[in-house]
Amino acid sequence: MIVVLLGPPGSGKGTQGERLAARLGVPKLSTGDVLRAAAAAGTSLGLEAKGYMDRGDLVPDAVILGIMKEALSSPAHAAGVILDGVVRTVPQAEGLRDVTAQIGRQVDVVLLFEIDDEALVTRLSGRTTCEKCGKPFTGFTPGAPCPDGEGTLVRRKDDEPDAIRNRLRVYHAQTAPVVAWYRGAGANVQVIDAVGALDDVFARVTGAAGIA
Ligand code: AMP
Repeated sequence: MIVVLLGPPGSGKGTQGERLAARLGVPKLSTGDVLRAAAAAGTSLGLEAKGYMDRGDLVPDAVILGIMKEALSSPAHAAGVILDGVVRTVPQAEGLRDVTAQIGRQVDVVLLFEIDDEALVTRLSGRTTCEKCGKPFTGFTPGAPCPDGEGTLVRRKDDEPDAIRNRLRVYHAQTAPVVAWYRGAGANVQVIDAVGALDDVFARVTGAAGIA
């Protein structure tokens, strides 16, 4: 099953995608995670992406299409994949359509996480992320130990107020049109109310994905 998760930053795509991946027994691919790991390792991909990411801008489509192609042609993703934040522009959606067609597959469902901007600013500005495992947490201050491992919690540079506002602008301008593109292409687009307890939202996710 190939699942595309769409929604603004902080809408819970990553956390819910992780749970959905575990339930389906398939990997989750987050381009944000791939790019952050590349930036931390100082690879040329990471160095190219870092400036865009720190400002909350999108990295160029060609970079994302490269990651997408490599990932989807790997045997690890043969049984399916949860694509978290991988599709953020119409050219990326078109690229994914072409890559999946080449391997005889198609996107099975698009899950759109809906939540208003004000709630997102509150969520993201209170979020810390483990520098080691990458998991997000709320209710902790930067510098605290990761509750789930050995790392330290930090505030992501793009969770600073200016970058948050820019990420939301970018979402509305560049990613929201992807929803209309998928609808126009006849895809199975399901809207998820992303407000509520994690378990409640996950029940909506599995119901919408048809795996409840
Ligand atoms: P995320 O962790 O999904 O919030 O992504 C963090 C940042 O990585 C984004 O603000 C972008 O700068 C970059 N990024 C991740 N995925 C994409 C994508 N599909 N297209 C463009 N930029 C991306």
